[in-house]
Amino acid sequence: MTILSKKQISAILLAIGLTSLSSCANNTGVNAPIAEANTIAQRLVSTAVAQQPNSPQFGKPIDCTLGKDCFVLLYFDRDPSLAAVDFGCGRQTYNGHDGTDFAIPDAKAMAKGVPVIASAAGKVLRVRDGVVDRRLANSTDKANVAGTECGNGMVIDHGAGWEAQYCHLRKGSVAVKPGAQVQKGAVLGMVGNSGMASFPHVHVTFRYQGKPVDPFVGPEAKLGCNIARNPIWDKPLDYISTGLIRAGFANKPPDENAVWAGQFLETKLPANSPALLFWVQSYGVLKGDREQYKLFAPNGDTIANDSKEIQAPSRTWLRYVGKRNSTNSPLTPGVWRAEYRLTRGDRVLVEVKREVELR
Ligand SMILES: [Zn+2]
Repeated sequence: MTILSKKQISAILLAIGLTSLSSCANNTGVNAPIAEANTIAQRLVSTAVAQQPNSPQFGKPIDCTLGKDCFVLLYFDRDPSLAAVDFGCGRQTYNGHDGTDFAIPDAKAMAKGVPVIASAAGKVLRVRDGVVDRRLANSTDKANVAGTECGNGMVIDHGAGWEAQYCHLRKGSVAVKPGAQVQKGAVLGMVGNSGMASFPHVHVTFRYQGKPVDPFVGPEAKLGCNIARNPIWDKPLDYISTGLIRAGFANKPPDENAVWAGQFLETKLPANSPALLFWVQSYGVLKGDREQYKLFAPNGDTIANDSKEIQAPSRTWLRYVGKRNSTNSPLTPGVWRAEYRLTRGDRVLVEVKREVELR
């Protein structure tokens, strides 16, 4: 096969990055387990601050393994101004976000069903169902969900002054009724994309005596980040502010809507495809991070080897490299391999390897 010159290759390296999440809205793919990514979990040390002795200990509100088939995409905003900061001093939040977003890979995972579960025992106060699951893409979509921002969900009184609101459940999945007593871990419904949501996830807001509480720091913590904290979780949850959402191959440029829908995760593509593109979507990238994309032909030739510095921070980031199919330089049938690395200084934050068969 003909190997493209460096100049030709750079001509087909296409960047479509810098997508932003305007609201509680995001997700990843079943076929592309997050576990394959080498993400750095930061175990931020908790320093105990005063907390009521009879406060419940809360479990995560979703039945999945964090870092494997789900992840926290957005945290509580700890900045009282118009700026936003998460408890780890990162950017994975937005102004006024009063809860935590536990996301799943994509609409396919959502259709299969990932249970939303009660973080603690309690009594169901209010529920809503019947709101359609639709990924918000623009301001018209946002206007359409005015008044039903939480989508399908419920408020549960967890006792001792605590309540929690669970949002964006899948239409028709709400499994509890007002007045019902639920045990910790009881299934409340399924993760969805209803209301003000641009990705499949469950948003949970914890309130103590009516005031929203960041579950990673507890009710007594000071505002801001890098503070003494006493999480309300029953088990430590790692802080992972940068990671892989998913990666795959496409034969045309992928877009945000399509990848959240679970498309472009094929392991086989026709050899007469117009192009072969290797794409990666990650979250929490920062200015100065470096990403490297490599694409290898079936005979081992390096078709693309692109290293670029990220120019601006982004909460979700989608980019690809690839090769066009042409008579002069056809795509060869066989197994193509691709590698991706996201590094910050000398730390590797995400590492991905994928294969696709062209035939
Ligand atoms: Zn949220």
